[in-house]
Amino acid sequence: MLSDGATSCPLDSGLPRAEYTERRFKPRELPGIWSFIDWLPVDGWNPSTGASSVTYRSSGLAADLDLERLYISFSGYWPERGALMRTCSFKELEAAPTMQMLLDRKTEEILVVASAGNTARAFAEVCSVTGQPVILFVPVSSLDRLWTTVEPGRVLVVGVKGDYADAIKLAGVLSSRSGFRPEGGARNIARRDGMGTVLLDHVRRFDSLPDHYFQAIGSGTGGIAVWEASMRVIGDGRFGERLPRLHLAQNIPCAPVHAMWHGMSQEEMNFDAYGCPEGMHDDVLFNRNPPYAVPGGVRDAVISSSGRIYGIDNTRAASAQRLFERSEGIDILPAAAVAVAALIDAVESGFVGRDDEILLNVTGGGVKRLAEDHSRMRLKCDLRLGLEDSVDVLLEEILA
Ligand SMILES: *Cc1c(COP(=O)(O)O)cnc(C)c1O
Repeated sequence: MLSDGATSCPLDSGLPRAEYTERRFKPRELPGIWSFIDWLPVDGWNPSTGASSVTYRSSGLAADLDLERLYISFSGYWPERGALMRTCSFKELEAAPTMQMLLDRKTEEILVVASAGNTARAFAEVCSVTGQPVILFVPVSSLDRLWTTVEPGRVLVVGVKGDYADAIKLAGVLSSRSGFRPEGGARNIARRDGMGTVLLDHVRRFDSLPDHYFQAIGSGTGGIAVWEASMRVIGDGRFGERLPRLHLAQNIPCAPVHAMWHGMSQEEMNFDAYGCPEGMHDDVLFNRNPPYAVPGGVRDAVISSSGRIYGIDNTRAASAQRLFERSEGIDILPAAAVAVAALIDAVESGFVGRDDEILLNVTGGGVKRLAEDHSRMRLKCDLRLGLEDSVDVLLEEILA
């Protein structure tokens, strides 16, 4: 591990990337994502965290779409398939290595996370398991997404009167104070390399890089992560030279990455006129400031892999969700249905071939399945803040 965990580059606005000394793809005999420890920015590992995605060859959806080699990466709770993420989304792939990285560094700083819901839930659960403190900034409208399946630990929840962008702003004010540390979003290498294990799990199980990768995106961090992981796998030398094509999907009309990809200017992108993120099939996919044009960002990843960006409306997302749940037999988060709809679009348009090797990232699911096995504890909101409020109120709360 050569990185010091910085979230910015000294020379430009690019995303910092980890350089690992190990060049070979050699999964270790460790549980969950820790088997990829050589390509994670951590030294130690925790057997109580780090559930991995599960990749399997589809028969149900594959038959419906007439695809020969459709593989599904499932991040969520589905014990029959070995999927054990109790917070039911791939944000758990981010939370576990981020907290391990902080533990390795023995930092006294308190982590500050802004989230539209799924990231906050993942950190709440992981931090409750590890005992590390965390402060979560979540829009008030998303507070019902916050729960843990274990007794909540040192988790402080700030309900933000505003949207995700406001939550990011307020979290930014607090994390610039001494004693606090920003999670970093797309700039957090533990986040990206944790999410990149989706691709590594596929390679481990099926011994090849897929031709295509489908994912629903808000910021696009998961897409960048899979692109970076693919480059590491190619660097090994045994898996060919061709990057998987990234097929990244947004929920229109609240789709900034899709709009920028099609060349819209900042002025033309008037998401407030559509009332975004209200009315979306899943508002976790709305991020006003995605890492799109920065070096190493979404645009670079999609262009260098000859990929595509899809705009999926609610009707298509809803019907894709029904199709998936019926054909695969598990409930999925609405965000993941946006990726399924993109795959259907690609099949219909001929962007993928019947015999191509396709990896579909089902980024969240199994909430209903979880309810059969575990009870959930709602996290209480400790404090409500708006942009007009000073974070000093919050500091007093923390010190109290
Ligand atoms: C966050 C999230 C996404 C989008 O992830 P990116 O960070 O944009 O790659 C997709 N699906 C679910 C379930 C999510 O929680």
